[in-house]
Amino acid sequence: MSSLPLVFDEPKRVKPPRHLADLDSAARRAAVAELGLPAYRADQLSRHYFGRLQTDAAEMTDLPEAMRAQLGAALLPPLVTPVRELSCDDGTTRKTLWKAMDGTRAETVLMGYPDRATVCVSSQAGCGMACPFCATGQGGLQRNLSTGEIVEQVRAAAAAARDGALGGPRRLSNVVFMGMGEPLANYKRVVDALRRITEPVPSGLGIAARSVTVSTVGLVPAIERLTGEGLQVTLAVSLHTPDDELRNTLVPVNTRWPVAQVLGAARGYAERTGRRVSIEYALIRGVNDQPWRADLLGRLLRTELGQLVHVNLIPLNPTPGSEWDASPLPVQEEFVARVRAAGVACTVRDTRGREIAATCGQLAAEDVAGTNGTFVR
Ligand code: SAH
Repeated sequence: MSSLPLVFDEPKRVKPPRHLADLDSAARRAAVAELGLPAYRADQLSRHYFGRLQTDAAEMTDLPEAMRAQLGAALLPPLVTPVRELSCDDGTTRKTLWKAMDGTRAETVLMGYPDRATVCVSSQAGCGMACPFCATGQGGLQRNLSTGEIVEQVRAAAAAARDGALGGPRRLSNVVFMGMGEPLANYKRVVDALRRITEPVPSGLGIAARSVTVSTVGLVPAIERLTGEGLQVTLAVSLHTPDDELRNTLVPVNTRWPVAQVLGAARGYAERTGRRVSIEYALIRGVNDQPWRADLLGRLLRTELGQLVHVNLIPLNPTPGSEWDASPLPVQEEFVARVRAAGVACTVRDTRGREIAATCGQLAAEDVAGTNGTFVR
C-alpha cells in the first residue's frame, strides 16, 4: 500500500531564530561572548536596536566592519517581514500584515492621536479562546509569537512613527496587547516582551510601563502570576457581561474561571500596582446591552473594585458572517449613564480602522486585497 501524499500535511512551523530582543542584558552579553567578541559589543548593538530602532547591522558604523555582518546574522535576523500595509482615517491608522520566517501571518495596527501614538500588537498568530464575536477567535490558534516577534512589532511601529508614517515625526507612546491572540496564554514570552518594551535604553525600548496595556479574557492564574511580576503595566479584562450565564457563551473560558474569580484577580492586580483596571465591554445589540446589565455591572464593579476600575465600552465591530451588531446609540448612551450612576468611570472607545478591518476584534490576517482604504505598499 502506498503512503498518503505529504501535500495534505500542515506546513511545518519553524521556531523563530534567536533574536537580540529575546534576550535580557546578561544573555545578550553571553551571546556576543559566544561569538568571541567582547561583552560591550552587546551594549553597542542594543543601543542601535532599542535606542535608534536600527536593524541593519551594515549601518552600525561604530562597530568594526568585519563584525557587523557576523553580529547581524547572529542576533538581528529579520523576524517579521511586512506583506501589506493599509491606511485609513486620513493616514492616522495603519495596519501591517506581516509574515514570520515560517510563513505564519499576523497583524499590527499603529494609531496616531493628537496626544499620543499607540501600537496594537499581536501576541499569538490566531487565538484559542474562541469568543464568538471576534474574527481572530474564529480561526483557532496557529502558534505563540516569540518575544522577538512581539518586540519587533513595537520597534517597527516606533521607527515608522518617528519616520513620519503618521504624518510628521511622532514618538510612539503607548502599546496595547489587543491585537491577535490571548497574551496571558503566551505568558512567558509576553512578560519578557513587556520587560524589553519598558526597560530603558539600551536594555529595552524605554516606553513607560503605565502606557502599556495587557488585555486578557481573564485567565485567573496568569493574572495572579502577573501581579507578582512587579510590572506597572495596565491590565485590561474583557468582561463583556457581568453575569456568568451569558459570559459562558461570549467568553467561553468563563466556564473555567467565572466572573467573581476574574474580578477577584483583577482586584488583586489593582491593589498591588495601585493602577486602575480597565474593563472591556463590547456592546452587542440585544445581547448584553440591557439596562439591567448596566446596573448589575456598575454595582458589581463598584463593590469589587471601588475606584480602581474604568469601563471601556467598545461598540461591537460586526465580523463577517456574524448576525451580531452594535447597539443603537440611545441604548449605548443609557448604558454609559447607568454605569456612571453606580459611581464607576465609563467611556466609549473610539473605533479606528473600520475600513481596513483593523479595528478591535477584526484582525484575522486575511488576505486583504479586497479591502477598502489606501495601500501604503
Ligand atoms: N485576547 C485578549 C485581546 C483581544 S482583543 C482579550 O480578549 O482581551 C482586545 C479587545 O477587543 C477584547 O476586549 C476583545 O473582546 C475585543 N473584541 C474582540 N472582537 C470584537 C468585536 N468584534 N467588536 C468589538 N470588540 C471586540
